[in-house]
Amino acid sequence: MINIINIHKSYVMGSNSLHVLKGIDLEIKQGEFVSIMGSSGSGKSTLLNILGILDNYDEGAYYLNGKLIKNISEKQAARLRNELVGFVFQSFNLISFKNAMENVALPLYYQGVGRKKRNIIAMEYLDKMGLRPWAEHMPNELSGGQKQRVAIARSLISKPKIIFADEPTGALDSHTSYEVMEILKEINTDGITVILVTHEHDIAAMTQKIIRLKDGRVAETIKNGDLMQWKHQYMKELETA
Ligand code: ADP
Ligand code: MG
Repeated sequence: MINIINIHKSYVMGSNSLHVLKGIDLEIKQGEFVSIMGSSGSGKSTLLNILGILDNYDEGAYYLNGKLIKNISEKQAARLRNELVGFVFQSFNLISFKNAMENVALPLYYQGVGRKKRNIIAMEYLDKMGLRPWAEHMPNELSGGQKQRVAIARSLISKPKIIFADEPTGALDSHTSYEVMEILKEINTDGITVILVTHEHDIAAMTQKIIRLKDGRVAETIKNGDLMQWKHQYMKELETA
């Protein structure tokens, strides 16, 4: 589903250039539940944005569903995103002057679906998130966990194959974080590939595979069975750091 080969990415600001990704190789299969870890500034969001076709890269190759994603137009990128991917962000990115239902329905608005139909579908997705009673509420009337569930419903409404979540629990307390992780797990059980970025090891430990970035490269990839061993090592690393 996702294949990247020797990806490089630099940010150029005036005469300065920051080499963030220095040759990343990655394979993620359909139906996987993967986390990308690494310290702040290690390039996690940069990588996720490339995978989600929100940003381009300088060198290497990215194949999504067998299709090379390189030098494509913004229009093509938007079409692929609509077809294939959903996004969830740390700060929810809800539209403050639209209610929960309208926020969830937004992707369908962009697909040209009429108001009545898109609102009915949005209600189904809100219902799945246990938020039917909150449909008419504005984002500022919702808790953090509720806002993230609205954002997840919005990410699912266009029936994506992959959900990209950038620190989806970063603004939530641990109890609410675990609830959101349970929802992402369920989504994954339905066959959707879930790729999330986190710097919290307990969140990463809930996924099937952890990809750890360090100094612009993949430092290690840990599969589920090895997680306990890894957690032990990681804690020791933190203690000695
Ligand atoms: P992470 O998500 O792991 O915290 P990012 O991918 O956001 O890291 O950022 C990696 C590095 O690239 C950081 O040093 C950050 O300041 C820099 N960076 C990120 N986005 C931009 C940008 N649009 N322009 C310039 N520098 C950026
Ligand atoms: Mg980030």
